[in-house]
Amino acid sequence: MPRLERLEAPVESLNGVGPALARKLARIGIERVGDLLWQRPRRYEEPVPAKRISELFGDEEAVIEVEVRSVSSRRRGRLKILTARVGDETGEINATWFNQPWLEPRLAPGTSIRLRGRANKFGFAVSSYDLEGEAETADFAPVYPAGEDTSQKKLRELRGQALQLVRDAGEPLPAALLARERLPLRADALASLHAPRALEDAETGRIRLAFEELMVLQVALKRTAAARERSSAEPLPAPGELIQRYRASLPFRLTSDQERAIAEIDADLVRSTPMQRLLQGEVGSGKTVVALYALLRAVETGRQGALMAPTETLAEQHFLTIDELCTPLGIRVSLLTSSLGTRERTAVRQLIASGDAPLVVGTHALIQKEVDFRDLAVAVVDEQHRFGVGQRTALVEGRSPHVLHLTATPIPRTLALTVYGDLDTSELALPPAGRKPIVTGWVTEERSSEAYRRLTRHLDEGRQAYVVCPLIEESETSVARAAEVEAERLRGAELRGYRVGCLHGRLRPADRRGVMASFKARELDVLVATTVIEVGVDVPNATIMIVQEADRFGLAQLHQLRGRVGRGAEQSYCLLVSRPREELSEGATERLEAMVTSNDGFELAERDLEIRGEGQLLGARQSGLSDLRFVRLRRDGELLERARDAARQLEDEGLLAAEADRLLGEAEHAEP
Ligand code: ADP
Ligand code: MG
Repeated sequence: MPRLERLEAPVESLNGVGPALARKLARIGIERVGDLLWQRPRRYEEPVPAKRISELFGDEEAVIEVEVRSVSSRRRGRLKILTARVGDETGEINATWFNQPWLEPRLAPGTSIRLRGRANKFGFAVSSYDLEGEAETADFAPVYPAGEDTSQKKLRELRGQALQLVRDAGEPLPAALLARERLPLRADALASLHAPRALEDAETGRIRLAFEELMVLQVALKRTAAARERSSAEPLPAPGELIQRYRASLPFRLTSDQERAIAEIDADLVRSTPMQRLLQGEVGSGKTVVALYALLRAVETGRQGALMAPTETLAEQHFLTIDELCTPLGIRVSLLTSSLGTRERTAVRQLIASGDAPLVVGTHALIQKEVDFRDLAVAVVDEQHRFGVGQRTALVEGRSPHVLHLTATPIPRTLALTVYGDLDTSELALPPAGRKPIVTGWVTEERSSEAYRRLTRHLDEGRQAYVVCPLIEESETSVARAAEVEAERLRGAELRGYRVGCLHGRLRPADRRGVMASFKARELDVLVATTVIEVGVDVPNATIMIVQEADRFGLAQLHQLRGRVGRGAEQSYCLLVSRPREELSEGATERLEAMVTSNDGFELAERDLEIRGEGQLLGARQSGLSDLRFVRLRRDGELLERARDAARQLEDEGLLAAEADRLLGEAEHAEP
């Protein structure tokens, strides 16, 4: 196997990785060998003072050198708790580990062990340990996002193997550039990132890796921009009678941000260069109305408009919303998804090809070659938090409709400039007037009955509610089953006497549409759902949401979920129910606290960056280019400038093309 490809190979190709470990690694985002290295440590542990047991004080972090006296383990729900009675010459304490059952046989009485952690009311919560010379608490030990499930020692060993493969793969950047910029070799940079001798080493390594990412990104953006210059679009005439009727049919006045976005779109549509505009706005800020405006501009000139969504469910929900708005205007809306039967799909395709379908909603499959629009003038791409430069390239180089991209991911300005460099941007900064900020609360499981009492009070006042089921990692089928079981349980318990529907990804599309339609029509009081409701569902009468086991969700996802309420003039609530506090990881606690204290997606995105690392903000696996894994945007402004200059220079020398090709190619093949 060529050397570079070994980094792309499944992690099972490493020594000592079987299917079970591979599954665990996949859960923390490590599927390919290279993933072990492209994961940036969240932070590094600083050395802490060594103490005797009698000196432990408050919840200060400390290291203790102790001997194991006895050991026991128990289960609490999904949690496995391992407790060791340990002692030194000053006393004894109970040391606890969560979910590390493999340690038990190695903690025989008499074993010496060095523990790092914090004293609490239950004893000593261990964060890392050295077991007889197996140094796991090296000073500056890197801490990775969500590594709880696999031993750090095993990960370190696998990283060692992967590092060797990187060394064998050679250095991608020219030696002269490295010397000029005073940057280390990539293999050395990765080594010091994952096993630094001092914090400065880790930072030097990170900068080297960030530099390369930024350079490749710049080349890619330049290409997209160049492709756009080469393509042309037909200008649209000024807004006419249909647009007038559309505006008149809306039950509200457009906000000034919406008006501004519309004016910017109008200005784009009269040009012969295709529009490439990003419409950025918080969840609930009213992007759909603006998007439909752009589509109707195409329709009223007898041409076609298409809206593409990243998932089938989202496409169906957009379809329901848009169809409702278009019916009074006499405009027919068609839905094209892969779950349509063959005959139906063929029929819709024929309508698209003949031009008899003026407005089409579908998944990203719509832009594939076999769908042949007679005359597509405006395309709206709902990217939500799935974003890929590659998809944009595909659009630009194929047909050249005017394109409007929607995103709800509040992207920090610096990142937007870096990543969306080639797009014009419109922003819906202020939500429609009269909205009250959603009130968010967090309670642990033992108080969940209070949360449900609160929810039923809303139902009794004629409002509706959502209950979001826990995120479980197994198959979509088991997620769906779990949701159905939970809905059934709630019907007999907390929600007895209310009309409870259930929505998940395994329902047949017609059934899913049926459930959505009856919730909208208030024939259901509560929708028990999986994360399929994360985006798109729009029922202003729903004013309260309970998220079960909220500690399992990511911050961006929680914020998206919360956006399903607060869509009308009534005060809305989001109640997060989590497992007990002492069972939560540091990250989970930080996420839940952030949700309670902030409604501001921009601020939450920044918090998310801090908690998870920047690259993952955009959805780690979505596309090669959205993975800015090593860049720290608030810190790397100057580095970005340097990378831009270097990219320009190397491109002139024809040196960066291969790497950029590889990344762009990857982005284009990324699943929508
Ligand atoms: P987004 O797609 O940005 O999350 P939507 O377009 O779904 O938001 O809009 C959220 C809700 O706000 C919808 O119920 C929509 O009808 C309503 N809405 C949109 N614009 C306005 C406005 N100018 N005034 C009042 N309500 C609005
Ligand atoms: Mg929306």
